[in-house]
Amino acid sequence: MRKTIIAGNWKMNKTAKETRATLTELRALADGIEGVEIVIGTPFTSLESAVETVKGSNIKIAAQNLYPKDSGAFTGEISPVMLKDLGVEYVILGHSERREYFNESNEFINSKVKAALAHGLTPILCIGEKLEDREAGRTAEVNEKQIREGLAGLTSEEAKKTVVAYEPIWAIGTGKTATPEMAEATHLEIREVLVDMFDREIAEEMTIQYGGSMNAKNAKDLMAQKDIDGGLVGGASLEASSFIEVIKAGL
Ligand code: 13P
Repeated sequence: MRKTIIAGNWKMNKTAKETRATLTELRALADGIEGVEIVIGTPFTSLESAVETVKGSNIKIAAQNLYPKDSGAFTGEISPVMLKDLGVEYVILGHSERREYFNESNEFINSKVKAALAHGLTPILCIGEKLEDREAGRTAEVNEKQIREGLAGLTSEEAKKTVVAYEPIWAIGTGKTATPEMAEATHLEIREVLVDMFDREIAEEMTIQYGGSMNAKNAKDLMAQKDIDGGLVGGASLEASSFIEVIKAGL
């Protein structure tokens, strides 16, 4: 059985102090919840406070990026070794905002996925099509390329430890969500690519999250779909009171 993983992506929001406050609240609200993996992705500057605040709870912490080297002359970058040392367990990679604003290529993202796995971090590989791709009927093709190139060279064991997040770019921060049926159709296409790259048994074990304006209202219908195994949540993860409702929708 694959894991349902509900992850909040805080993007460039919250100071360390604000992180402590929100996670203290979330920790209390999420106490005793089992059956979904709860993850919060904070900015680098909040990771240490985040890990400390959730220690001993059912909440795991994610970084939102890494640089695929252990150490060295890479001014301003953060390595997987540093993340692991802090107690970070997940890392969000290849988010569409990084692809767009920081020109990240599939090849570069692939090197980050491998670096994460090599250091025992769980990568969440984000993929997704633009509105113009969907309108031109290129959704499957665009996602397939991002998956194949993003996960190129992974062993079956590594694939099993990897999470894919399908985030249609037109649904991110826009309030427009894919309908559950539309999202499920794409998730199924994604799983078939994984079957082809690895095998059916492995693909069936891999968590594929949906992301893009997921909230307390639409989360239940989305996660009720057979191939939607959780969510990557932006705006609705910033307040503990709204994120807990998304988490409960995944139970
Ligand atoms: P929103 O939930 O704010 O649309 O953001 C989704 C996202 O980009 C999560 O990574």
